[in-house]
Amino acid sequence: MNEIYSEEQLQKLQFMDSSIKLEKRVEDLLSRLTLEEKFKLCSGRRMWHTKPIKRLGVKSFTMYDGPHGVRPDEMGEKKSTYFPSAICRAATWDHELSYEFGKAVAKEVREVGAHMLLAPGINIQRTPMNGRTFEYQTEDPHLNKVLAVATVRGIQSQKIAACVKHFICNNQETNRFTVSSEVSERALQEIYLPAFKATVQEADAWSFMTCYNKVNGVYGSENFNLLRERLMNEWGFRGFTVSDWSATAYTSTEKCVIAGLSLEMPTANKYKKRNLTKAFQEGKFTEEILNDNVKRLLRVMFLVGLFDNENTLPKGSRNTPEHQAVARKIAEDGIVLLKNEEDLLPLNMNEIQKIAVVGPNANFKIEGGDILSKGGSSVNYPPYEIRPLEGLRQKCKNKVEIIDTPSKADITIVFAGLNHNHGMDAEGEDKDAFELPLEQVKLIRKTMQENPKTIVVLINGSPIAMDDWIDNVPSVIEAWYGGMEAGTAIANVLFGDINPSGKLTITFPKKLSDSPAHASKRTYPGNDKVFYEEGIFVGYRHFDTKNIEPLFPFGYGLSYTTFTYENLTIDNEKLRGADVLKVSVDITNTGKIKGKEVVQLYLQDVHSSVERPLKELKGFKKINLNSGQMKTIVFELNKDDLSFYNPIENSWVVEKGTFKILIGSSSRDIRLEGEVEYLG
Ligand code: BGC
Repeated sequence: MNEIYSEEQLQKLQFMDSSIKLEKRVEDLLSRLTLEEKFKLCSGRRMWHTKPIKRLGVKSFTMYDGPHGVRPDEMGEKKSTYFPSAICRAATWDHELSYEFGKAVAKEVREVGAHMLLAPGINIQRTPMNGRTFEYQTEDPHLNKVLAVATVRGIQSQKIAACVKHFICNNQETNRFTVSSEVSERALQEIYLPAFKATVQEADAWSFMTCYNKVNGVYGSENFNLLRERLMNEWGFRGFTVSDWSATAYTSTEKCVIAGLSLEMPTANKYKKRNLTKAFQEGKFTEEILNDNVKRLLRVMFLVGLFDNENTLPKGSRNTPEHQAVARKIAEDGIVLLKNEEDLLPLNMNEIQKIAVVGPNANFKIEGGDILSKGGSSVNYPPYEIRPLEGLRQKCKNKVEIIDTPSKADITIVFAGLNHNHGMDAEGEDKDAFELPLEQVKLIRKTMQENPKTIVVLINGSPIAMDDWIDNVPSVIEAWYGGMEAGTAIANVLFGDINPSGKLTITFPKKLSDSPAHASKRTYPGNDKVFYEEGIFVGYRHFDTKNIEPLFPFGYGLSYTTFTYENLTIDNEKLRGADVLKVSVDITNTGKIKGKEVVQLYLQDVHSSVERPLKELKGFKKINLNSGQMKTIVFELNKDDLSFYNPIENSWVVEKGTFKILIGSSSRDIRLEGEVEYLG
């Protein structure tokens, strides 16, 4: 113990030998650490790093934000690829793109010398008012799970740790440091936990970030039930937990240790040497528990190759054309065509002389240096950002003139929406309005009067009200925050080089009071507590079951082509035990151009002993079809897909009886229906 090694001696220690099994290396290094060194490893320094243990050659483990690209410093001195917001990536419904994103961003993490990305953020979008809706993927647990697993796999394919956040029920920013999310076990099991669990069991996530809020009265960082019991013991998580930055403020040292919080960030507070020593000496936690917490961090240090020769690790790269192409592809495939009357879109370059471009987001930089606020920890500093106006200019070159007077143009495009200023789509506060700023509504109305051939392109990261203007506008596009290639992607969709294929991953309500979290002040924003009284009826589960017409439903998005759904075949009328059911359907592109369709499978339990949603997404496939082409797609279902969480028995159960299988193009556009009987 306490020996100081020369560089040469260090190389001979067992844990430095990369040919030895991981657990052996971990045990060996742990056995050499003094109690004080273990304490030292429990908290960070200088915002993004762990403390090195020089004596043993343990370097700093470095972690950076965030979900839309790596940000290695506060001021943006080092530029990196700015990918579209998570809600846009999710709207592609393409797990391969999530994987590609993960892989590309991880290469950038490696290139800046870090080991972990503080992403993905996978909290459920419970309310459109959450300031961080844009950073999260969806309101649906199944879609959330598929995309989260792909993202984590992509990141970790480069031996960079993903940090899945924020565990859990951090579904609003209002009072985020103090509020307790009061949520039922059933809602946890069916809605909030599944994606987190899947990142452990299907993607071996190496790290989890705890939430700022309390869950049923207990802060995330000291939540024994969430961390030790569920995450570690039940799900088999082998990685380490890290507190959200300063999330330990109101916790206790020993409770955090016992719960299984390995790393307190950004600096020591509850895990100050003096606090840990005192609690340990008073017998409030054992060295065995501490060892487990430390081992978890060491394990991930080995997994990312901290002790290995850099030449043996995947190579990093940053700001490459390949990464920019991934960003552009996500932006293109995430764009959702919300409305397109009389096929105003796509635009035909040969039929237009003048396009008027107006609106505050036409030439507004979403990221970078020229805005006051940048949305919080997900901010990026890209080497460039193609704004919508620039994208259009590049596309139109000298073929179409771009002007700013709608009355003189063949077509007008209004770039409306939000940005990352406080009170809009930004961390730290929830949105202060569900509506677009009034001047934008006025602008849309005025533009419509001047030129009825007006297209509204929305740039925002969360549902907004449209009821007071949408009826008059023939075409509307939801373009989200599309990253550094947004302008190119938007122009490609407007002119039909790309056929839009994005679908909403969150219901757009007509009015906020229709939204399930907005039944009362208790349910949102709450005070000390926020009551999730809607239970499992989150998003479309609520709108469908309560028969409330949304503005745009979950899973919705138009295309420039059309698809027919035919020949639903279910390979068995009855399902027994753990059998697998095969459901197939033929999809044909009946339009004139190629396009992608997201085929969605929902299940409905016809009779149940407990209340269940009218439908629940259980599968989806995104397919690419040429004009006239048909493809048969096959879904597999098993009894787990039919099950629900029974809070009385405290377990997942499947009841015998009939289940409807609904295949559709959105949650409200069901094209084919079939049935299966579960026999038990
Ligand atoms: C955010 C996290 C982020 C961390 C570090 C916190 O405020 O909630 O998502 O990773 O800061 O910047």
